[in-house]
Amino acid sequence: MYTKFQQHLQSELQQIDAAGLYKRERVIVSPQTSGIQVAANGGATDVINFCANNYLGLADNAELIAAAKSCMDRRGYGMASVRFICGTQDTHKQLEQAISEFFGTEDTILYASCFDANGGLFEPLLTAEDAIISDALNHASIIDGVRLCKAVRYRYANGDMQDLEKQLQAAQAQRFRIIATDGVFSMDGNVCPLDKIYELAQKYDAMVMVDESHSAGVVGKTGHGVTERYNLRGKIEVITGTLGKAFGGSVGGFTTGKKEIIDLLRQRSRPYLFSNSLPPMIAAAGLRTLEILTRSNELQDRLHGNTEYFIGKMKAAGFDIKPTESAICAVMLYDAKLSQDFAAELQKEGIYVTGFYYPVVPKDQARIRVQVSAAHTREQLDRGVNAFIKVGKQLGVLK
Ligand SMILES: *Cc1c(COP(=O)(O)O)cnc(C)c1O
Repeated sequence: MYTKFQQHLQSELQQIDAAGLYKRERVIVSPQTSGIQVAANGGATDVINFCANNYLGLADNAELIAAAKSCMDRRGYGMASVRFICGTQDTHKQLEQAISEFFGTEDTILYASCFDANGGLFEPLLTAEDAIISDALNHASIIDGVRLCKAVRYRYANGDMQDLEKQLQAAQAQRFRIIATDGVFSMDGNVCPLDKIYELAQKYDAMVMVDESHSAGVVGKTGHGVTERYNLRGKIEVITGTLGKAFGGSVGGFTTGKKEIIDLLRQRSRPYLFSNSLPPMIAAAGLRTLEILTRSNELQDRLHGNTEYFIGKMKAAGFDIKPTESAICAVMLYDAKLSQDFAAELQKEGIYVTGFYYPVVPKDQARIRVQVSAAHTREQLDRGVNAFIKVGKQLGVLK
């Protein structure tokens, strides 16, 4: 049997490669931060990292490492259990409490990842009588979570409030309605228009779910996410997020919001009931992350300053940048091959970025996505901009 299947897989893999879509992983041989070493030709080469979700530069933070180590000494390595059997420690409860305080919500439930949080969100809460109205550019995990649920699905064009209104009108026959949206859309860096979404939700008797994965720690004056940006703290029924991006960059996800929603998820959400607890050290480092972000605004300020600085310089140089309110800067090149050549040339200049093209982004919308971090020094940002300008001229993108 396997011989035939093997041939089938080999041919699939060849097709992926021939289409230029085969993903090759570059191997980092240093901690994750703004300046990293990447394995090359039997040795390692230094590059400036512009493609991590390490927005606040916490992935190698000494305080978080110390908090994780100390917790491992006090509470051990793993839980060997799901939460409801014997996998809940005081640290897990404290982290849930701290997340609720951070977002101004009533209660929080932890997951192994935000992928799990979104995957286990809709199915326990809604039935075939209900409706989910989802932004067309939502993250894969929201799409999968919606697929696992029997609710009627409606989709609206990215951030398009006329379309959302139309879908809400169409969904009036259903019992309960929930609008689901990313806080920040990862390919453009645009923020969802949560103020208008909230207004429409009020008008058409719907609830709102926001995934703050790319916005928590980043968006809003103090980095409290899109609910801070739009003054809607405490008003949104469900927020999901990750500990794997700005919040330390390790693993772990959460759903936070109305008490009864969280309560029911603890009873019925399958990735929570049937998957292991977060390691205690991860919960402890998560707690420390929120302490760091609450006691001072230094990292958030530095990230905002760096983002403004980088985007200002790139625009002044003549690059075509998608409108963004996050730390994501999409440098538009449109042509797929150009995006790959551009990224390869930047790598030669010691700048580590990824070029994205169809089907990850729409056809003829190829781009390089730059992610700015609080960990970047001004010198690193300057080197990034200068390399972009050099390659831009070399490849005829800039005159
Ligand atoms: C990254 C991301 C996730 C997945 O988070 P993990 O914790 O890594 O599983 C979910 N939703 C959005 C919008 C994301 O950007």
